Amino acid sequence: MSQSSSQAPGAASDRASADRPTPKPGILEIHPYVPGKAKAEGIERPVKLSANENALGSSPKALEAYAEARHSLQVYPDPRTSIVRAAIAEKFRLEPERLIFGCGSDEIFALLNQVFLEPGDNMVQGQYAFAAFAIGARACQADVRAAPEPGFRIDVDEVLKCVDERTRLVFLANPGNPTGTWIPFSEVRRLHEGLPPSVVLVLDGAYGEFCLDPAFDDGLELARSASNVVVTHTFSKLYGLAGLRIGWAYGPLEITQAVDRIRLPFNTTVPAQAAAAAALGDEDFRQASIELVERWRPWLTQQLGGLGLDVVGPSAANFLLIGFPQAPGRTAAEAEAFLSARGLLLRTLYNYGLPGHLRLTIGLEAQNRAVIEALAEFMRS
Ligand SMILES: *Cc1c(COP(=O)(O)O)cnc(C)c1O
Repeated sequence: MSQSSSQAPGAASDRASADRPTPKPGILEIHPYVPGKAKAEGIERPVKLSANENALGSSPKALEAYAEARHSLQVYPDPRTSIVRAAIAEKFRLEPERLIFGCGSDEIFALLNQVFLEPGDNMVQGQYAFAAFAIGARACQADVRAAPEPGFRIDVDEVLKCVDERTRLVFLANPGNPTGTWIPFSEVRRLHEGLPPSVVLVLDGAYGEFCLDPAFDDGLELARSASNVVVTHTFSKLYGLAGLRIGWAYGPLEITQAVDRIRLPFNTTVPAQAAAAAALGDEDFRQASIELVERWRPWLTQQLGGLGLDVVGPSAANFLLIGFPQAPGRTAAEAEAFLSARGLLLRTLYNYGLPGHLRLTIGLEAQNRAVIEALAEFMRS
């Protein structure tokens, strides 16, 4: 898994004498991001349960604001994303200047990597960390260190063991993707206390709202006072705006100002800003989205377990990670093909080193029941 870009070939002189342009060292060793499958052969409208999108669609208030924004497409967006900035600052009682906005939280991860990593530095993450973290780090010619996740869960001691004097960033998605598991805030705090003050701890809260345990905290409170903590959030999951690409982060002023020096001035769009600001005010949609997951997560977990499948968890996100048997006829790859042929798209996880698992986004009732029915048939066949 670990790719050492600093040892890759491609010295400056070789690149100058090459007979064609050569990407800088490390670029061609990066595994491209693999998105969740969206199409099934011969099926017109497959059920996409492969990208952790919101099964309820988008906030109706966001859709209204989006429709209204069509009258403003000739103007450049506000470079400061001010309407969303003000709404978030008020909702979460945060200082507006300490917020960053991006083309999804993905862009914010890339910007943080760019601000802090130079060749030979390293970034530390969990073994099954979300792929976007590492792509950006490798693009900066930094090394990526993967801390083992025994039992598919972040182990703070393992993460701390990976940190050395060249570590600049630690990325932690809590709950994690694709594992769905989480660590209590006491552990996040212990991780933070174990890090040198020069290391930035990035807490990715993409699924934080789906974790209802009182021991969970997304870290905004910690980020308020710490000089090295950045918390990221997205409108892609809970608010159902993945297609508009907008996310945000809260961190120390020194970091947000550094990011502002390099980000593209118009990195969030007019419709995205309008829809995101409206979505923040849609408490009904937010509640309905959480309730859907709360209702079907335990049911799916129990049903899958009943079929003899190994659900990783408990999941605290809007998806489940499912382990399949190794026996021919019962494998994850065969299950994926079987489901796909029935228009049910789950996520394969080869690029996460999990060829024996599939990830299932929690869907609407009929979709969830259809998955269980199909998997029951698959396990019988
Ligand atoms: C979906 C997801 C995000 C959100 O990405 P966007 O770029 O905001 O759409 C962030 N982190 C993790 C772990 C995710 O799974």
